[in-house]
Amino acid sequence: MLSDTSSLLTMQGVSKRFGPTVALKNVDLSLNASEVLALIGENGAGKSTLMKVLSGAHLPDTGTMTLSGQSYHPRNPLQARKSGVAMIYQELSLAPDLTVAENITFGHQVETPVRLADRQAMRIRCFDNIAEAVAGHKPGTCTMHESCDSYVVVEYNGDVYPCDFFVESSWKLGNVNADTWREIARRQRRFNFAGKKSIAHPECQACEYQSLCHGGCPKFRHGPHRNFEDLDYFCESHKMIFAKSVDPLAEELRRLYPNGV
Ligand code: SF4
Ligand code: SF4
Repeated sequence: MLSDTSSLLTMQGVSKRFGPTVALKNVDLSLNASEVLALIGENGAGKSTLMKVLSGAHLPDTGTMTLSGQSYHPRNPLQARKSGVAMIYQELSLAPDLTVAENITFGHQVETPVRLADRQAMRIRCFDNIAEAVAGHKPGTCTMHESCDSYVVVEYNGDVYPCDFFVESSWKLGNVNADTWREIARRQRRFNFAGKKSIAHPECQACEYQSLCHGGCPKFRHGPHRNFEDLDYFCESHKMIFAKSVDPLAEELRRLYPNGV
C-alpha cells in the first residue's frame, strides 16, 4: 500500500534482515485515522517483524516511517509508546507472570493517585513468583529461572524451538516428525540456549537481586541489536518491583510459616 498525505501512519521501503534471513524487503504500508487494518500472511511472512519495527522492538535496516505527518523512528518500545504506538503481543508472547491489564500497561505506568489506585487493584502474579523464590522454591515463570530450558515450542510444521521468542533457524532444535523427544532434549543447541540467560551484564553481576532476576528474560536484552550480553530493557522496573516486594513478602512468609515453608 502506498502512503498519502492524509495517512495517520506510513511505512515506506522498510527492510529488516537477521543474519542471512531477509525478514522484510521494501515494505510499504499506510494507515488512516479510524481505519482497522488486518495484516495477514503465512508463518514467516514477516508480520511480527513489521509490527516490531513499528513498535520500536526492532530497528529497521532501511526505510522511513511517519506518524501524523511527522518523521517517526522509535529506538525502543518505550519511545514508541510515548508516541502513541503500542504492540499487544499474541497470547504466546505475553509476559506470563503478569495479568492482562499489566501486559497492556507494562512500561506505561503513570504515577498519579488514580493510576496508583488502579495498579493496586490489579492482580500481580509476579508477586507469587517472587514469593516462591524467596521461599526457596522454583518460581512458576521462566523469566525468573536461572536458565532457559523449562519448555520448548512446537511450530505448525513440527519444528521445535527452545522458546517462542526465539523461533529462529539458528535456534531450531529439531522436528517432531524426524527426531525423538530424547534427541531433541539432549541437543547441544538446547543447552547452549539455556546457558545464554546466565550471560550477565556487569550491572547484573553487582545487583543485589541477581539471584532472583538472573538478568531478566533474554528477549528483552536489546540495545541497538538484540544481544544476550545487553542489560534487560526492563531492568529498572525489575529493581523497583523487587525493592518494594522482597522484604515484605519475606516477612509475610515468616509470619505465615514460622517453621519454614
Ligand atoms: S528467553 Fe528464556 S526467560 Fe525469556 S521467555 Fe524464553 S525461556 Fe523464558
Ligand atoms: S534487576 Fe537489572 S541489574 Fe539486577 S539482575 Fe535484573 S536485569 Fe540485572
